[in-house]
Amino acid sequence: MSAQNAVVENVPKGVYVGGQWREASGGASFAVEDPGTGKRLCDVADGQAEDAKEALAAAVAAQQEWAATPPRERGEILRRAWQLMTERVEDLAMLMTLEMGKSLAESKAEVTYAAEFFRWFSEEAVRIEGRYAQNPAGGSRLLTMKQPVGPCLLITPWNFPLAMGTRKIGPAIAAGCTMIVKPAQLTPLSMLQLTDLLAEAGLPPGVLNVVPSSSAGKTVGPLMSDPRLRKVSFTGSTPVGQALMAQAAENLLRVSMELGGNAPFLVFSDADLDAAVDGAVVAKMRNNGESCVAANRFHVAANVAEEFARKLADRLGSMTLGHGAEEGTQVGPLIDGDQRDKVAELVDDAVAKGAKVATGGSAVDGDGYFFAPTVLTDVPKKARILREEVFGPVAPVTTFGSEEEALALANGTEFGLVAYVFTQDLGRALRVAEGLETGMVGLNTGLVSNAAAPFGGVKASGFGREGGVEGIEEYLSTKYVAVSMS
Ligand code: ADP
Repeated sequence: MSAQNAVVENVPKGVYVGGQWREASGGASFAVEDPGTGKRLCDVADGQAEDAKEALAAAVAAQQEWAATPPRERGEILRRAWQLMTERVEDLAMLMTLEMGKSLAESKAEVTYAAEFFRWFSEEAVRIEGRYAQNPAGGSRLLTMKQPVGPCLLITPWNFPLAMGTRKIGPAIAAGCTMIVKPAQLTPLSMLQLTDLLAEAGLPPGVLNVVPSSSAGKTVGPLMSDPRLRKVSFTGSTPVGQALMAQAAENLLRVSMELGGNAPFLVFSDADLDAAVDGAVVAKMRNNGESCVAANRFHVAANVAEEFARKLADRLGSMTLGHGAEEGTQVGPLIDGDQRDKVAELVDDAVAKGAKVATGGSAVDGDGYFFAPTVLTDVPKKARILREEVFGPVAPVTTFGSEEEALALANGTEFGLVAYVFTQDLGRALRVAEGLETGMVGLNTGLVSNAAAPFGGVKASGFGREGGVEGIEEYLSTKYVAVSMS
């Protein structure tokens, strides 16, 4: 227990503005709890609109000098931050597990994944290029250059407390932007700890400002209409993303939106079924199912569906539930009581409409917000769980006949983040990958997340890409210079 107390104690609990930790205006604070016990971990400064405004002022003041800092220097700060995160993976993982619930193994994987964005963008910082071209009509020249968009507001969710931050902070630093980060109310500690680590890595004051808050809209709303802010990057729910888009429209902010998902997982009759089950366990159970890329519904060829569901139920049914910090835990608690109630509601709705429970099916009594890993079969089309993002460890299995039907089922949603496809037929794999209305496809794999790849969606899942060579473009504007040769 003392190691756990120490990691929480070490976290700075304030608002971070212009390189200084301080109390929130009026001394307000809010509690952060451990979802594995339901108990309070500590209190954190509750940033107010005035704090956010001061954070923006600090970001604005630092912008020009930061943009003029050599790209190699910006890259080396990121590289050092990657190194420090790698050295401190154990403590960062423990802190993440305590505030978010996932198992220590999952938290370590996230710390490593989060750090990879810093390493990747340390390498991208020195590859910001323009071009030089002859005017097709002759005479003059066309010159283009890329410049940082300016101060950014970065809003992150609770499910990946570090990685959702680093994949915005990394490219913003690399591009030469300053920023204000508003971490999720439920999980601010990892971001506060990361803030300290970035300062230690040499990030100058004012480049990164952090304002935790228990009422995000009130705190950051005034920034959205301040003309000095130039961009908002948001990861979270579709309704909040839509509201932020509307606010961004008034100020014509650059916008990146990574919103909800409803990922289909397609298993064709020619798939390697054991590989499909392995992929399904990863795509469903990573992060306790609390991920926008979690497989939300399983559409399986009718002649292999029973075997697939049985094998998946065996695997999910034998996973060990427990507090994330306990040894051997594979599945931690859900983030809070509301989330657990919502998962239960979707399962109950499906069962009431005729679905059968192959394993699990209900919440687990006792402290913390646990829900048993669940497989549902014979899930009818009208079940809400096929349309709504479940964000929990529940796998509804349905069947299809033809490839056309599978594709129609997969695309029959307003969301379009990711889809998973298991088939050994190359022609089918490419046809289906081309036909899917998503930003990403996992082909014979249940894991797509990779700092070197462009992550993002289409349709109601948003737009903009994080990671890959695309990721830094979100933080750059192109300037064109017409050059007269006369
Ligand atoms: P989730 O279901 O993952 O909590 P939300 O969209 O509610 O998704 O939250 C994602 C992030 O957006 C959090 O940091 C939250 O505090 C923030 N947020 C929620 N409402 C607003 C708002 N009106 N304006 C700005 N940020 C908001």
